[in-house]
Amino acid sequence: MDYQPVLDRIHAALQPVIGQGKVASYIPELANVAADQFGMAVVDVAGNVYAVGDAGKRFSIQSISKLFALTLAFQREGDSLWTRVGREPSGNPFNSLVQLERENGIPRNPFINAGALVITDMLASRSVNAAQSLVDFVRKLAGVADITYNTRVAQSEISTSSRNAAMAHFMKSFGNLHNKVGEVLHAYCHHCAIEMSCVELARAVGFLANHGVNPWNGETVVDPSSAKRLSALMLTCGTYDAAGDFAYRVGLPAKSGVGGGIVAILPGECGICVWSPALEESGNSHAGSLALEMFTSLTRRSIF
Ligand code: GLU
Repeated sequence: MDYQPVLDRIHAALQPVIGQGKVASYIPELANVAADQFGMAVVDVAGNVYAVGDAGKRFSIQSISKLFALTLAFQREGDSLWTRVGREPSGNPFNSLVQLERENGIPRNPFINAGALVITDMLASRSVNAAQSLVDFVRKLAGVADITYNTRVAQSEISTSSRNAAMAHFMKSFGNLHNKVGEVLHAYCHHCAIEMSCVELARAVGFLANHGVNPWNGETVVDPSSAKRLSALMLTCGTYDAAGDFAYRVGLPAKSGVGGGIVAILPGECGICVWSPALEESGNSHAGSLALEMFTSLTRRSIF
């Protein structure tokens, strides 16, 4: 399918709402990003690229990194991963501490901060440099050699990460964090500070659209059943505490980040990424959510 006319239509229709909402400011470096930007890209599994607006501009992927970290950990640990993190929506904000005490330091899912810290801990146990190992993994997934993290953003996040540190210490007290809290936070903040464009992100999730096989080099990233499971988690837990509403409106597995990016997958067809930094209350990009909703309405393609 030629997605270009669809993207052009979405871009034109959303002009009045681009910039509406709030740019994340709790990480000081992110507060400096101009709100009125918008990009969207679709990359189909044959490698055709459709793009509009700022689709080539790199931005802070933030929590989208949780999808890649989970994939890498799942590749290494398999199902034993689920003894340390759950797979249910949390019904709480992404950085909430409240459930951890009641649930013995086992986070609800890998896409909230506590869950991603446990996943990062798993990566740290198996690599000398957990920050770089994720960068290398993402480079391979996207087929782009110069993807890297923004050190300023990572430092900015490390210096304001009291809440994530509290979660990590808390989980350590339950025995669910094996490495030093400082090391895990360092890697986690660098993962969040990776910068990629919409085109690169739409390519990087190509393996999920392609049932676990990286379309750009033919390598199996995960088996088809694992690709299904990762996508299911995106649908139920990938867009903060608004995942139910997002599934209702959009109908695609997706993962968002507070940098304003959202990746989504149309299984068997394509990877999609939209970026617009101004966020809704839920933490999802406002224009981005609307763009994906329009995408599935106009193309009549979703998982339902
Ligand atoms: N680095 C952010 C944090 O830990 C990620 C938040 C997000 O994108 O959801 O707070």
